[in-house]
Amino acid sequence: YDKIKCVDAALGAAIDYGAGKSKQLIGAALKGRVEAIDHDLCAVGDEDAFFVADLGDVYRQHMRWKKNLARVKPHYAVKCNPDPQVLRLLAELGIGFDCASKTEIEQILNMGVDPARIIYAQPCKTKSYVRYAAQHGVKQMTFDNADELYKTKQLFPDAELYLRILTDDSASLCRLSQKFGAHLDGTADLLALAKNLDLNVVGVAFHAGSGASDPKAFIKAVQDARFVFDQAEALGFKMHTLDVGGGFNSDHTFETMAAVLSEALDVYFPPEVRIIGEPGRYYVATAFTIACHVIARRTVADATLGTTSYMLYLNDGVYGNFSNIIFDHQHPIPRVLKAGDGMWYDVRRSGYETPSQTEYSIWGPTCDGIDVISSSCMFPDVLDVGDWLYFEDMGAYTKCSATRFNGFTDSHDVVYVCSEPGAGALLGML
Ligand code: PLP
Repeated sequence: YDKIKCVDAALGAAIDYGAGKSKQLIGAALKGRVEAIDHDLCAVGDEDAFFVADLGDVYRQHMRWKKNLARVKPHYAVKCNPDPQVLRLLAELGIGFDCASKTEIEQILNMGVDPARIIYAQPCKTKSYVRYAAQHGVKQMTFDNADELYKTKQLFPDAELYLRILTDDSASLCRLSQKFGAHLDGTADLLALAKNLDLNVVGVAFHAGSGASDPKAFIKAVQDARFVFDQAEALGFKMHTLDVGGGFNSDHTFETMAAVLSEALDVYFPPEVRIIGEPGRYYVATAFTIACHVIARRTVADATLGTTSYMLYLNDGVYGNFSNIIFDHQHPIPRVLKAGDGMWYDVRRSGYETPSQTEYSIWGPTCDGIDVISSSCMFPDVLDVGDWLYFEDMGAYTKCSATRFNGFTDSHDVVYVCSEPGAGALLGML
């Protein structure tokens, strides 16, 4: 199934070692790129914000997934970050893909990935996209309503259908069940309709909400999925796959979530049932760091308090890669990369470890007042135009939802590094 051999006992140490190496490589790449810019003479856009991506981080996340969720075959949610090198690595690792549109399907097929490794996980699909999926043999797709079944009958009667059910996603960052998922009261009718239309239902899908935080949501969803599996089997469908969706975080909560889910799967689904998942942020959130340039500064003197603070304007904001603040409810943490002439901060240490004296608010470059990255943060030095900040954990739902509002670019360079030789070898980076 995939090319990694992971040795359980060594994995924890390998991950710690890799994470340290990752910081070093990212730090060197950030510094190298910024040093190469002549801020006084550079061409338009040369000082644009840029990412550094550690593909080794993505590789380690995959090892961690295999160790903790061995039964669940990941289908990476392309929407989260369709970075071509990330997709290439994941394709090399043999995992599947969750696509939600024609463009995403096309991007994956163009890498030579077998259509059987793709699930078109969008319960409400555009008709021409369904025709495209049919023409290219992307058979697996989700549905959650009767209208979609009629559409499928008309356009792709051979599709392998997954009935997406509602979950309790109230403890997640981004709730999806307000929009998608069949209520359990309605699944019997939907399955009966699918039978009457002679359609091929093969599985159940759910999503516990993106950025899920309550493991109990997974247990309930697995139990509900079992209920719907039994309903479908009673109608004669040959059910073979459960899709547990995404929602996994990359922080320490992953292990708990994975343990709870694995146990529930073993209780409710015998080993012959294939289990797939659609992780997005889990794979990429921590792999991407962004560096932004201070393009302007406003001094705010408070005569009453006798204090001076500063508003810093960066060349990226919520209409750009910081769209995750609006859409994904994130709070990216600014850190100083370069302050003053030749003062570099070591990215392995947090900027907050040095005494902080001055208050700043951090703003994006557009004309809109909503374009704020941080309303208050403290930094040690008097930062000024020409300095650079960086933000870690910027890989999920960032550049994929950036706009060109105000004429700012939505396409930013990515400098790739690789802290894992295994990933480098797969990509020919070594
Ligand atoms: N699958 C579906 C159908 C989704 O809508 C999403 C996110 O919106 C994902 C998977 C990925 O979720 P996450 O990034 O939380 O893993």
